[in-house]
Amino acid sequence: MTEGFLPYGRQTIEDDDIAAVAAALKGDYLTTGPTVEAFETAFREVVGAGHAVACSNGTAALHMAMLAARIGPGDVCIVPSITFLATANCAAYVGADVVFADVDPDSGLMTPETLAEALDRAKGRRVRAVLPVHLRGDVCDLPALAAMAGAAGAILVEDAPHALGSSLKVGNHVARVGDGAHSAMATFSFHPVKTIATGEGGMVTTNDADLAGRLRLARSHGMTRTPGADPWLYEMAEPGLNYRLPDINCALGLSQLAKLPRFMARRRALAALYEVALAPLAPTIRLAARPEGSDPVLHLLTVLIDFEAAGKSRRQVVEALAAKGVGSQVHYIPVHSQPYWQTRNGPLDLPGAKAWYDRCLSLPLYPSMADDDVARVVDALQTSLAG
Ligand SMILES: *Cc1c(COP(=O)(O)O)cnc(C)c1O
Repeated sequence: MTEGFLPYGRQTIEDDDIAAVAAALKGDYLTTGPTVEAFETAFREVVGAGHAVACSNGTAALHMAMLAARIGPGDVCIVPSITFLATANCAAYVGADVVFADVDPDSGLMTPETLAEALDRAKGRRVRAVLPVHLRGDVCDLPALAAMAGAAGAILVEDAPHALGSSLKVGNHVARVGDGAHSAMATFSFHPVKTIATGEGGMVTTNDADLAGRLRLARSHGMTRTPGADPWLYEMAEPGLNYRLPDINCALGLSQLAKLPRFMARRRALAALYEVALAPLAPTIRLAARPEGSDPVLHLLTVLIDFEAAGKSRRQVVEALAAKGVGSQVHYIPVHSQPYWQTRNGPLDLPGAKAWYDRCLSLPLYPSMADDDVARVVDALQTSLAG
């Protein structure tokens, strides 16, 4: 059993990760060197995509995706209300509007039904992108969402920081998240709580060579160089940003990616232990619902708690857990209720998002947890709700 505090998520950094970073620091390139391409190549092979473009973080990945798709003022992006702020902010960065979709109250995910309702609200406006989020690692119904987005003239951009290693079974076909089977682009984050860590870091994957080229332009100032031209010459057709990921971070990313199979297996094993340990606590505490075909590597272990039935507020439970050394977190506050979006979009009622938010709590899940930490967490939860 782990002594001390169990956070809801944390990185797993081992001696060889540290050695990889030290080697990068002693090398010729701290940034824009060969380790960037090596990390991109390894990543696109792991997820099965044609192209991968590394960048500073998952928020930059989303911003670059908007720029690559030429989304701008007057355009509409459809974003589920249950996600991190960045999924909606990326539309605001390029001057686009956001129409928030509701989510299924038990899975927290955008569904064909909630997307249909959002598309209906966006009727008559130029919907350019739909951004499903594979909340906690469970995969949305991508074929249905992609068909609906396509019929509306929009592309699908998966915001996939929770779902590295997750896959979706559709009939006999297994799609890996990020392989581009159902979407134009997918974005990832390597923030320390995510499945692999580079400190800060992100990636966009796509099978479209033009989009990959535009992502690279957006990442580095919009600069192009023409082979055979004067050696100093560069040109810029459109301003880009500096969203590069240094070789130092890419070295850590490469080292982490090699461990992904082990991290995946460990997350799956811990999730299975949680499933068994939590079963007797139903129906007051239930695991988030698994959508059909989703084969997740869970990033978050999210439970839905009927706080009213338990006679405890979420705050009381969170504080009682913390007092027992167990961290927890709420994923997420409905984004449409944030002051900025309320002011910008006006009032909006999304009952699925509200029902999800009222009940959700994420419990500790990360590869270095011990098996019996799961029992410690579940015992703490039970006594926090009862005591
Ligand atoms: C982590 C996360 C982001 C942002 O990634 P950063 O690397 O922290 O910028 C965006 N969307 C979702 C769903 C995330 O979980």
